[in-house]
Amino acid sequence: MNYICSIILFYCFLLFSFYHLQAENNACANEQFQTIQLQNFEFRQQVESIINSNQSTHKINEDILEIPIAVHVLHLGEDSSVGSNISDLQIQEAIEKANSLWRNSFVTENSLSNDIKVEFCLAQYDPQGNPSTGIVRVNASSLPQYTETGIGYIEAVLQGIFGSDETQTKGLSDWNHSYVLNIWVVHKIAGGWGGYAFFPFGNNYPTDGVVITSNSMNKNSTTLAHELGHAMGLFHTFQGAENGCPANDLCFIQGDWICDTPPHKRSDCNNSACNNSADSILSFKNIMSYCSNRYIFTKEQKDRIRNTIFNSSRRALLQSTACSGIINAIPTTKQEKGLISIYPNPAQQEFMVEYPIKNNEAIQVHLLNIMGEVVFSTYLNSGLTHPIHLNHKLPIGIYNLQLKNKEAVIESTKIIIQ
Ligand SMILES: [Zn+2]
Repeated sequence: MNYICSIILFYCFLLFSFYHLQAENNACANEQFQTIQLQNFEFRQQVESIINSNQSTHKINEDILEIPIAVHVLHLGEDSSVGSNISDLQIQEAIEKANSLWRNSFVTENSLSNDIKVEFCLAQYDPQGNPSTGIVRVNASSLPQYTETGIGYIEAVLQGIFGSDETQTKGLSDWNHSYVLNIWVVHKIAGGWGGYAFFPFGNNYPTDGVVITSNSMNKNSTTLAHELGHAMGLFHTFQGAENGCPANDLCFIQGDWICDTPPHKRSDCNNSACNNSADSILSFKNIMSYCSNRYIFTKEQKDRIRNTIFNSSRRALLQSTACSGIINAIPTTKQEKGLISIYPNPAQQEFMVEYPIKNNEAIQVHLLNIMGEVVFSTYLNSGLTHPIHLNHKLPIGIYNLQLKNKEAVIESTKIIIQ
């Protein structure tokens, strides 16, 4: 009974916060759903493994990653370039804008943002290998509820609004998900959102891809850049702000799971009670916020995006022939060795720490749980490799492994104990 009550309360809470959301100019329909997804074990586990790959000693190099896209315009029967059947030029300009934000070349390079070194290219060939503009136009007006309400999505269902069947709508034009990232341009999203996108974590959704309204798909909007951020693994900067300031003590697994985006509330775009530091601008102007004039991706968001691409279903897109007609070489991963390395990771009771320790140097290894409590500690001998044997079984989870000398923590990395 208690369980049922808490489910009802949870959905009431979602409905309550939903009404606030619609007032935002930049609102996208990911918020409630991603909060639900984060309750899912498999989803969280995959995000954790990608975070862990952030800490890998095999840092991904700076090659530009090309992600092929196809744009499906699901219009209401208008002529091309009229109404929701937006022109090729408008689509190309919207993609250029998104690329300029992702490459940090919009107007001029901005020192607060980062070049993600990812570019989205309209497919030049369809899945059968025929030359294509990468833009497909379909009259979707005969789909029940599509004209009146727009495409249906879980966020609107939570609000009691039922648009057209999502799978059926996307099924009107849908290219192989390993060949392109699909973008559906719709005249309306049930509930009045500007866009939404699926994460490549957890379930492999058959409806995977980005949805954006025809009004938002233009050179003046940042919505496409934002939705592509979700599609490549980024949460909102205010994720977890349903009950006030998002928790941030363990910034790598709380809030948006990114440490260099200070916590803020959704509507905090100039001042924040959550974080008063000067670097709050990194969240206030972040592409993954709902604030206006957003243009920033942080360094850690860049790492998250690139690690997501390499460690999720998005990786297949790097080998697609959609943009070039030839198989792209998979960008190589450069083996830049950091000073500390742990393997295997995830580990059980035994693992190796690789770190150069000189004679007479007193280095201690500490393992901290998510509460910040030291759950294991030992001294390391001189040398490069140090076998660690945990003298007791630890609960499954992410731990912070620190190396300390007499004065301070000198190295820190994450390890998953399973
Ligand atoms: Zn969003």
